[in-house]
Amino acid sequence: MPSSLHMSSDEFRQHGYAVIDWIADYLRDVERHPVLSPVRPGEIRDALPKSPPREGEPFEQMLQDVDDLILPGITHWQSPRFFGFFPANTSGPSILGDLLASGLGVQGMLWATSPACTEVETLVLDWLVEMLGLPERFRSTSSGGGVLQDTASSASLCALLAARERATEFASNERGSGVAPLVAYTSNQAHSSIEKAMKIAGLGRENLRLIDVDEHFAMRPDALDDAIRADLDAGRVPCFVCATVGTTSSNGMDPVRAIGAVCAAHGIWLHVDAAMSGTAALCEEFRVLQDGLELADSYCFNPHKWMFTNFDCDCFYVADRATLIRTLSILPEYLKNAATESGAVFDYRDWHVPLGRRFRALKLWFVIRHYGHAGLQALVREHVALAQAFASWVRADERFELVVPPPLNLVCVRLRAGDEATTDLVERLNATGRIYLTPTRLGGRAVIRVSIGGTQTERRHVEEAWRLMRAMADAVLV
Ligand SMILES: *Cc1c(COP(=O)(O)O)cnc(C)c1O
Repeated sequence: MPSSLHMSSDEFRQHGYAVIDWIADYLRDVERHPVLSPVRPGEIRDALPKSPPREGEPFEQMLQDVDDLILPGITHWQSPRFFGFFPANTSGPSILGDLLASGLGVQGMLWATSPACTEVETLVLDWLVEMLGLPERFRSTSSGGGVLQDTASSASLCALLAARERATEFASNERGSGVAPLVAYTSNQAHSSIEKAMKIAGLGRENLRLIDVDEHFAMRPDALDDAIRADLDAGRVPCFVCATVGTTSSNGMDPVRAIGAVCAAHGIWLHVDAAMSGTAALCEEFRVLQDGLELADSYCFNPHKWMFTNFDCDCFYVADRATLIRTLSILPEYLKNAATESGAVFDYRDWHVPLGRRFRALKLWFVIRHYGHAGLQALVREHVALAQAFASWVRADERFELVVPPPLNLVCVRLRAGDEATTDLVERLNATGRIYLTPTRLGGRAVIRVSIGGTQTERRHVEEAWRLMRAMADAVLV
């Protein structure tokens, strides 16, 4: 291919500046867009050419099409008025770190394929052990270590696979079968990724026990123990428990210490999924929510939710890396090298499902260095304070009720008038385009989630959300 077909260095520089300008303007003005994309299914595709271009097109035209054809189909996750799901917040240092990772274009499957890619990752994950007050055994300098994964779903899958192998003494890995039917446990409020992991790991959805929760939607350790004993009596092999720190529906906090004691008594792998709420542990005062973590075999949280690091970025820790590595390692001839054979390095391809991996640590390194631990703490405290303020306004309006006291930055609210009124309210609020909220069901009742964690979300946005909610409640309750 003649080199003239490529974008020249000067062209790249010129278009690159234009793209950075575009992103800076977009993030500065993101509030102006309706938060939820209003397009109908198929509308975006229909506006685009049916067939690919025969000849290359000018870059300016592509960027123009992003404005004209793509933006209408964007739901603005970076809007300060986005209160749906959990946040997926980003930041300048993160975007620039990610861009540099693209520029370097390294594939870090082995230490030897880019030593910095591995060593920065190991270092940043050790930094986070310190920043989050995680157990010492999760450090790479101890028996364990951390690794970046794309998502919490992948991290939980890897934890389940390692638990399966530990329970079968690697028989499942080697011979494709375990000893007896393996069973796993999580609460009935746990994320759907645990059920998905059971399907992928070949353990079967039917072998996942969904344990009862208390009035705060936290797993009941006594119910967990009962379920384990029933399975043992029936000749099954309990292998894995997933506790959640901050459930998706209500931010319920499973009691990690009590669950850890049950797991220890039965020799079961404990995984802790703290996808969003793990970030709160940056602040000492919130670490109590994951008290007992030193009993866990593995742990994950997503900087791509609430730690200003753009998707995707999940931190996954294990207490005993040897089990994880033995579960996932492969060594074909073409990957053999002196560094690997020396045993002195980590080859992260053995710590996750894919072989290849990008330099994901760069953006996380930039985020931590830009904000510092203290800066990140201040932002987390600000979001939690805003959520607590919102909750206090809800308490003061007798038409509304809080479903649970919010532990952190997620407020679950409903209209006392009932499910229909609550569902009507959230639909009307989202139709305004001014804010975006996602509904859920808790204890069989309709609930509106107000999730506060946007990079640009300030007090005025939260106040406006409450003003809108009250005004719409007037309309719903006439
Ligand atoms: C969001 C969430 C997940 C899934 O996150 P991904 O990183 O998208 O896989 C898992 N568990 C909990 C508790 C979550 O809130």
